[in-house]
Amino acid sequence: MADRMQQFLRVAQQRPPKREAGERHQDFGEIYEVFETAPAGAQASRCEQCGIPFCHVGCPLHNNIPDWLKLTAEGRIEEAYRLSQATNSFPEICGRICPQERLCEGSCVLEQSKHGTVTIGAVEKFLTETAFENGWVPSLSPHQERDGSVAIIGAGPAGLAAAGELRRKGYRVHVYDRHDRTGGLLVYGIPNFKLDKNVVLRRTRQLAEAGIVFHRSFEVGRNASLAELRDRHDAVFIATGLYKPRALPLPGSGLAGVHQALDYLIASNRKGFGEHVSSFEDGTLNAHGKHVVVLGGGDTAMDCCNTAVRQGAVKVTAIELQAEKEMRGSTTERAHARDGGVDFHFRTTAEAFLGDGKVTAVRAVKARFGLPGPDGRRPIETVPGSNFTVEADMVLQALGFGAEDVRTRFGEPDLEVTPAGTIKVDQTQATSLPGVFAGGDIVRGASLVVWAIKDGRTAAASIDRYIRAHQASGVRAAAE
Ligand SMILES: Cc1cc2nc3c(=O)[nH]c(=O)nc-3n(C[C@H](O)[C@H](O)[C@H](O)COP(=O)(O)OP(=O)(O)OC[C@H]3O[C@@H](n4cnc5c(N)ncnc54)[C@H](O)[C@@H]3O)c2cc1C
Ligand code: SF4
Repeated sequence: MADRMQQFLRVAQQRPPKREAGERHQDFGEIYEVFETAPAGAQASRCEQCGIPFCHVGCPLHNNIPDWLKLTAEGRIEEAYRLSQATNSFPEICGRICPQERLCEGSCVLEQSKHGTVTIGAVEKFLTETAFENGWVPSLSPHQERDGSVAIIGAGPAGLAAAGELRRKGYRVHVYDRHDRTGGLLVYGIPNFKLDKNVVLRRTRQLAEAGIVFHRSFEVGRNASLAELRDRHDAVFIATGLYKPRALPLPGSGLAGVHQALDYLIASNRKGFGEHVSSFEDGTLNAHGKHVVVLGGGDTAMDCCNTAVRQGAVKVTAIELQAEKEMRGSTTERAHARDGGVDFHFRTTAEAFLGDGKVTAVRAVKARFGLPGPDGRRPIETVPGSNFTVEADMVLQALGFGAEDVRTRFGEPDLEVTPAGTIKVDQTQATSLPGVFAGGDIVRGASLVVWAIKDGRTAAASIDRYIRAHQASGVRAAAE
């Protein structure tokens, strides 16, 4: 090992080649290229091979990172890939969009000791891309069919991870989604420059080829009730995500040009698929030639800023209440926004949208969170006399998402929810309804793809145990 590993003093940290700002702002292609084999091996060889690998702890999936880095450094790429995919359903997606600086790479001892983290995410992406190129990615088709069928509501990363695991075990799996495409926020939230849609399509093809049945444009609560799905299947996994946008109830909210972030990103992603999108063609959801103000500083806000830059906005301004050092969103995406010329106003809040029928400006004021009140909430304190206006033809509100009323939506008053409206589960992802499991954002609140994958995999294992236990006790599997 001594020859191959712990090379961090000899080998400098290197990321995969990054397209120049001037070039990448002209299109929606991914920002980073994929490592070639030699630099991937060299970067992997920097790993310290710690006795207690903090990267493994920092990764929500507890990937065996030091082991697959060592295999990569030794040129045993296929073995490295097999190990990396043993704990992660979509390593090529996580390698691209996990906020590694907060997870695996943020925990790397080399980062802590100022040598610069091993570039774990980029190596993970390299391994899976190489595996796809070489035909090493195993089929999800089961060796043996099992009796039992599972309904999955929501085709985002949580639903798809569960679907893959359950199909591999031999169950009949049906995925229901209200969208016309599979992938949830992977296709209709996260822009192409972070995650090329072909990467998602390649995975959904693999799932369909394994025999998973996708029911697209199928909304549970409209096309069927949860009770009907429970009747038809042996178990149900709810992974419907969070889609109720938070908005500031400000004067001028109803002006033309004030939009929700996700409506804007969905229109842009649909354009990326080559669709005719009327709200984009007529200019409503197209930032070209506009002064764009984005409210919020998190990942959704940065995706709006970086999309608007690529659409040819004249000026993009982000307004965020928190100080920059308090922000939880990706520092990398903020840096990309700065590269695109985005102006940031931290510790600032919007006070009003100005205009006559159509927004022309946002009035903002310097502000901060005050001390928590008796209810634990921190009030917003504005700084008197610090108001200013920012020109705006388009305002995008990216202030986070809450849960829809799932009990009413699904007609299931016995489904227990938290005060925030997210679904209550135990550590096996089981809800209060027998045979119904839940995971991803609808359980955690707005979270990350990697946590959705983790929940999907945990739920699949629990559903397997649940169905086996029922079959063993003689309860007939539901007819499809
Ligand atoms: C703009 C944006 C950028 C993001 N960027 C990142 C990032 O860079 N990295 C990262 O890790 N995370 C990111 N996230 C967060 C990440 O996308 C989510 O945490 C993750 O997608 C949650 O997965 P999920 O499967 O729980 O839900 P979703 O991906 O939201 O999928 C839920 C699916 O359920 C479907 N559905 C909802 N209700 C019904 C119903 N009644 N019937 C049928 N189907 C239904 C929806 O159509 C959707 O397809 C981002 C989020 C947003 C909004
Ligand atoms: S899944 Fe995410 S956190 Fe885990 S190793 Fe990969 S990039 Fe890091």
